[in-house]
Formats: sequence, structure tokens, C-alpha cells
Amino acid sequence: MRAHHFSQSLLAWFDQHGRHHLPWQKNPTPYRVWVSEVMLQQTQVNTVIPYFQRFVEHFPEIPTLAHATQDEVLHLWSGLGYYTRGRNLHKAAQLISHDFDGIFPDKIEDVIKLPGIGRSTAGAILAQAHQQRQPILDANVKRVLCRLDAIRGWPGTSIVEKKLWQLADQYMPQTQPRAYTQAIMDLGATICTHSSPRCTHCPVQKICLSKQQNLQIELPTPRPRKKRPTKTAYALILKNEQNEIFLEQRPSTGIWGGLWSFPEVSNNKTLSESDTDYLEKQHHTFSHYYLELTPIIIQTSKRSHTIQDASAAIWYNPAHSRKLGLAAPVKRLINQLFHEESDP
Ligand code: SF4
Repeated sequence: MRAHHFSQSLLAWFDQHGRHHLPWQKNPTPYRVWVSEVMLQQTQVNTVIPYFQRFVEHFPEIPTLAHATQDEVLHLWSGLGYYTRGRNLHKAAQLISHDFDGIFPDKIEDVIKLPGIGRSTAGAILAQAHQQRQPILDANVKRVLCRLDAIRGWPGTSIVEKKLWQLADQYMPQTQPRAYTQAIMDLGATICTHSSPRCTHCPVQKICLSKQQNLQIELPTPRPRKKRPTKTAYALILKNEQNEIFLEQRPSTGIWGGLWSFPEVSNNKTLSESDTDYLEKQHHTFSHYYLELTPIIIQTSKRSHTIQDASAAIWYNPAHSRKLGLAAPVKRLINQLFHEESDP
């Protein structure tokens, strides 16, 4: 009864107030839904829209993505963050081309095995693209369900997560999986928001236990706090007489994995003072630490052949070098350096 009230109220609300014109809702093929779901994993809808459009325009089908180079993929991902998502999307496209003839699988056990696709993303793709009844449990849905049933405990713990999966299944109706999936995601994104839930506009307020007990702000229980350490590093911007900058490709794991950036050192003691120019310190936040990064421009007299020939290193000039996947702060610094030079 409670589940029926929830799904019917939600669907009626979605019909009138939900978002129906997002680019991936038009022609919701498994590929388009998949790309959108991966981009939306840690990024807001408004930021994702232009990236999604550029991505599917450039790679309209799974085989075109599978045949692209990692640099082409990361170039289109540049600025969106969490680059492992882009690398996994690329790897998964290659696996689908190889194991499923380029056709996105329609069985949840196959979908879950693809890199970068967890149970919730797999459910979201199959519900929206294939109208399968597969529950989802992304961050928005976790928040809605925690509040709806006043579930205590951080949702990252396995015991709470298990409970939430049970609820996600229980509340999902037997019909209209696509509309229901979009509706519950919309409710979390637009009404039952993280810091200011709009309960008076909520279609399920009558049955929401958090609203009844005034627990909306308290729930979901936040992640237990851990102090993040601060690391210091120096980005060496080597510039040669041909007006090129030295970049190297980072290892595929770790921050900005697989992207191109300046060499980094953890201290500046061995750097000579001549021909160096210190730029303003930058502050970056990662999930496990803060990074204070000081860029230093270093003029070098000529190209080093060993550096030039290395496959994971390049002398780069944005005007004539090939397209590279650049870490966002690197891209900003390069734009700044080359823009300043071209100013009169
Ligand atoms: Fe969220 Fe408030 Fe709706 Fe409950 S009533 S689901 S807390 S918006």
C-alpha cells in the first residue's frame, strides 16, 4: 500500500513537473543512456549536457568509441573530472565490440561486468533503454529512501546499503520502469535535495517519515569525518626556444590518470633560481587529500632528444600539436601562458 502510494504519487508528479527534455531522453538507446549515466555519476546535469552532446556527436555509436584512441576520449572528457570514468567507458566499448558484436548487452549480469558500471548504473541503463524493471540506488535515490523511511546510519556502510537496495526494489512498481527511474532521480535532484529539501512541494510528503519526525536535515547520516592531509608539489613548466612546453602522460591510475600534465616534484630545493618564474600557488581538493601546487616556469635552451622521443612525453604547443587529454588545471595554465603571449 505504502509502495503503491509512493510510486503512483511520484509518477503523477513526474508527468507534470519532471524533466522530459534532457538530451539523452531523446532517442534513449542503451549507448546514449550509458554515456549519460556515467557522466552523471559525479557531475551535475547542467555541466554534463554540453559534454554529452559533444561526446555523442564525436562518437555516435559504440564501435566509433571503441576505435578511438584514449587521448581522443580524454580530450572530450577534459574538464569533466573523474577521468577513470572516461577510460572505463572507452575500455567497456572495446569489450562490447569484441564480446557482444558492438551491441550493448541487455542482461544485467553482463552489464555489471563492464568496467565502470556498478549495479545502480546497470539498473538505470536497462530500465531507461530497455524498460526492464531494475531498481537503482544512486546518491539521489539513497537520499530519498533514507528520508522516506527514516533510515539511520551512513549509506556507505554495507548494512545500510543492503537495506536501501531492499527498499529500492520494494518501492519500484511493476510497470513504467523508465518513467519511474527518471522520476525518482528527478525527485532527489530537484525536490529532496541535499541541503534544502522542499518538502511542501514534495509529492510523497504524506508518507515521508523524516518529514513527520523533522529529520530531513539530519538524514541521510553523513560519512564519518576523517582529516585530509595536505600535500605540497611543484609543477615544472619547461619551456623551450621553439615556444613549446614539456608534458608527460601520467600513469593510468591515481589523480588525473592517463592525462597529460607537467612533471611534478615534491620540493624545489634542487631548482636553480635563474630562469625560473614562480606562479601563484593553486589549491586542489581530492577525495583523500588536499594538494597545494605551485607552477614554476623554467626556460630551457633546447629540446632534449631523449625527452622528445619518449612515447609518454611530448613537447607541446596548443597551436600545432596533436589533441591531448589535458588535466583541467594544466589546460587552464596553458591557455593562460599562450594567451598572455599572444596579447599585444
Ligand atoms: Fe524528501 Fe521532504 Fe519529500 Fe521527505 S517530504 S521525501 S524529506 S522532500
